[in-house]
Amino acid sequence: MHDDITLTTGRAHRVLTERIWPAVHGTSVPLDVEWHVLPGEPVPPAEGLALAMEPYEVGTPWGPAWGTTWFRLTGAVPAEWAGRPVEAVVDLGFDVNMPGFQCEALVYRPDGSTVKSINPRNQYVPVADAATGGERVELLLEAASNPVLLDYHPFLVTQEGDSTTASPRPLYTTRRMDLAIFEAEVHDLALDIEVLLELQAELPTGPRRMQILQALDDALDVLDLQRIPQTAAAARAALADVLASPAEQSAHEISAVGHAHIDSAWLWPVRETIRKVARTTSSMADLIDRTDDFVYGMSSAQQYAWVKEHRPEVWTRIKDAVAKGRFLPLGGMWVESDTVMPSGEALARQFSQGQRFFEREFGLRTHGVWLPDSFGYSPALPQLVRRAGFDWFFTQKISWNQVNVFPHHTFWWEGIDGSRVLTHFPPMDTYNSQLSGEEVAKASRQFREARHATGSIAPVGWGDGGGGTTREMTGKARRLADLEGSAKVRWEHPDAFFERARGELIASGHGDSAVWVGELYLELHRATLTSQHRTKQGNRRNEQLLVEAEAWAATASARTGAVYPYKELDALWQQVLLMQFHDILPGTSIAWVHREAVAQHASVTAGAQAIIERSLRTLVGEGDTVLRANPAAFAQAGVPALGVAPAAGATAAPSTLTELPDGGYVLANDLVRVTLDAAGHVTSAVDLASGRDAVAPGREANVLQLHQDFPNKWDAWDVDRFYRNSVTDLREAEKVTATVDDGVAVVTVRRQFSSSSLEQVITLAPGSRTLEVAMETDWHEAEKFLKVAFPLDVRAEHVAAETQFGFHKRVTHTNTSWEAAKFETSMHRWVLAEEPGFGVGLVNDSVYGYDVTREVSDDGVAPSPGVPAVTTTVRLSLLRAPRFPDPETDQGVQTHRYGLVVGADTAAATEAGATFGARPRELRGGAGVTPLVGVTGGVTLSAVKLADDRSGDLVVRVYEALGRRASGSVTVAAPVAGARTVSLIEDDVEAGAVDVAADGAVTVELSPFEVRTLRFALA
Ligand SMILES: [Zn+2]
Repeated sequence: MHDDITLTTGRAHRVLTERIWPAVHGTSVPLDVEWHVLPGEPVPPAEGLALAMEPYEVGTPWGPAWGTTWFRLTGAVPAEWAGRPVEAVVDLGFDVNMPGFQCEALVYRPDGSTVKSINPRNQYVPVADAATGGERVELLLEAASNPVLLDYHPFLVTQEGDSTTASPRPLYTTRRMDLAIFEAEVHDLALDIEVLLELQAELPTGPRRMQILQALDDALDVLDLQRIPQTAAAARAALADVLASPAEQSAHEISAVGHAHIDSAWLWPVRETIRKVARTTSSMADLIDRTDDFVYGMSSAQQYAWVKEHRPEVWTRIKDAVAKGRFLPLGGMWVESDTVMPSGEALARQFSQGQRFFEREFGLRTHGVWLPDSFGYSPALPQLVRRAGFDWFFTQKISWNQVNVFPHHTFWWEGIDGSRVLTHFPPMDTYNSQLSGEEVAKASRQFREARHATGSIAPVGWGDGGGGTTREMTGKARRLADLEGSAKVRWEHPDAFFERARGELIASGHGDSAVWVGELYLELHRATLTSQHRTKQGNRRNEQLLVEAEAWAATASARTGAVYPYKELDALWQQVLLMQFHDILPGTSIAWVHREAVAQHASVTAGAQAIIERSLRTLVGEGDTVLRANPAAFAQAGVPALGVAPAAGATAAPSTLTELPDGGYVLANDLVRVTLDAAGHVTSAVDLASGRDAVAPGREANVLQLHQDFPNKWDAWDVDRFYRNSVTDLREAEKVTATVDDGVAVVTVRRQFSSSSLEQVITLAPGSRTLEVAMETDWHEAEKFLKVAFPLDVRAEHVAAETQFGFHKRVTHTNTSWEAAKFETSMHRWVLAEEPGFGVGLVNDSVYGYDVTREVSDDGVAPSPGVPAVTTTVRLSLLRAPRFPDPETDQGVQTHRYGLVVGADTAAATEAGATFGARPRELRGGAGVTPLVGVTGGVTLSAVKLADDRSGDLVVRVYEALGRRASGSVTVAAPVAGARTVSLIEDDVEAGAVDVAADGAVTVELSPFEVRTLRFALA
């Protein structure tokens, strides 16, 4: 027989797209349309519905970037349509390939209730399931003309990403605003053909594929292309047998969950996300009402809170659907945050604020962490996920790796402390599944744990900018439930999937072969550790200030009865948590978003400072004694952690400054001696006790290096490996001055380079082994990457970098492709290169990225000439200048503080990192304050606060920071009625009771990197 496969598939494709889909809404009449163009920002729906309207003609261009246009659509259902389902069909000028990235609209009835939303893949509005004929129709559309910023030629520089720079020209032209009969049988035929056409494309040439192809030909033979609605049923009958053939016993099982990834801000501002969420959820509520088994999952308490506040008419529908178990709150976080950069406390608050919201509004907790789309996952996360009470973790982003294919899809992920959490990556490699035949087959083909497990998850629906699941997707799911040749698809809560997967992994007896230990490093988007410096700086600053504000407010409450500012602190934390969203903190949003993030961070700073000042004032009372309040977890300047004490005189001898004949300087104190050359570079930094020099012989440290940085795509996200191939060392100093100020040796260096300039104030304080650099850069570069390099005379096999509640080690070599891919990695407050007995740390106040290279000199140097000398070069990532999506990224004045810690181990680096950004504050008052909480024996303080439930209980979070066992105590210096261990989010846990000694002390044994949360009832 002749091979007619391409003839049949070509025929089916053409008839489907050109004839059958258009016939779904075949018979139509135009609606009368009026409009009102709103200048500037949107207005609440009640105002929008009341706006005066003017006549509008379909085909008239509308919608400047970021504008809102209200349309009123009116008409009457033709009498002859009685008994038929009728829909309004609206095409605002859509590009069907980009739902969520362009114009969209929410549809209201005149009474203000919502129907659903309109987007490129969802252009209908139900009017009547069975029309009576002649009924009046009135619909109002709140249409947003958001500009397309990422399209067929992505990553081009654009000014449309901010309302202040966008052009006023209309972006869209409406094509259709009609009433139409919905031909359900034609819609079903279209889905039948689409499912079969996509399925056969994935099948080998064999009986099943051939039978499907013949059925398609048979169906198309009986379909009259001039009378499609009248002949659709006959065509469907020809397909019935191949659609009824059941799936194989061993078919892969797909747990589908309706979804719309909605970035809380990205190529749109936060205010637009509020409306995006309302649009998507109203459509999902409508789809839930029209189906029996479809379930829709949505993460991010913040997004629910927005709907509740701004679109109460949609909120009621969400609440109803949640109560019915069809709308599934997922993830338990405030937002889908970045997890690499937030502090441990901030991640704890992502969970506690998220779960508290779900508990308060829906009376439920979520059981897993849902993070399909952030840029790598911290190795501290498994412990935090487990200790917050979650059972599972979900992502898929690691499928974006540039080099290495991740070896698992369902596995145990083990963190730095040994905690394991059951983790799943959908083998479909997407969080925006359309349930296409290709995706379904890919899930089945790629699933790595098929030996021991039966299924995978598919998040189904348009996403990034929202949109969600369509009736076409639910129609496909129905056909794929049990279909020969395909994986089986069913709608299911992810909890049910994870419970089954856990059982299968354990029952297989091979669960231990599916374990991944350590960070989930994303081999892409590495520059998100550096882009949009001010946003990152605000995050680091406010994480510290809020923890400080809580500690002083809790102390003031326990000691003086001062009112604890629960509400204020919640509101401030929620702002910081929102700014940790995975396109805000990583610096990958439009200019508008980052302009607002910087302003929000400034407002959080002011709010936190006010709480701190108020609390300290209450605590120290009236008086004129000069006091120092120490906000850090370690004693500083003679003041204990979280204590206030009279400022003592200097105990260490003043630092000295000596000018050298060649124009350089020597800065020295009792601990270290640092030599700068005439250009202000560090040529030597000697630890006086050991005599070891931190700087490699003949090398210079604190050298600024400027790289060309133009990645192949994803400008704000990516730095590509080749960036290292071109580099300019900024060696020229315009001016170098030196002085000793109040016992501190100070050298100031000014440099001009390219179109920019910078000033570094390099200081060595008495009694400190940290050479500090305060830097101000007037940055006017495009597509450049600024690093500062420290070639260290340390043979380090690993470099340790701080993460949440501890650190992780990364090897310094590039033996395998996995290590080679990690050419830019993450840190929090410190990074340490160490060999036994001597290490050098780098601390910082707002840096998150660094890289390490090793060089071996065969010549060798003293003390062993002829023996290879290893130099470990650590470089901090300071500034970038990508031009998409924000063409002005990081331009203007930027500040950094960092320090070289000469002679450090992990304990010293931890302490130096913790104190570097939490220096004592000076104030005047009556008396000092003994700390409310003290710790001993290798126990490190993380938070001291009052309990979220507003009971007045004191919550103290501690951790083991050094990766070893700790045996110590936590003492509360206030009358204590009892204590217990609670979860990371302050829930009771099994066997949580702990004994409290008469002096308020609790004995604490911690395993390596363990986080422990204690709750004290105060007497
Ligand atoms: Zn995202």
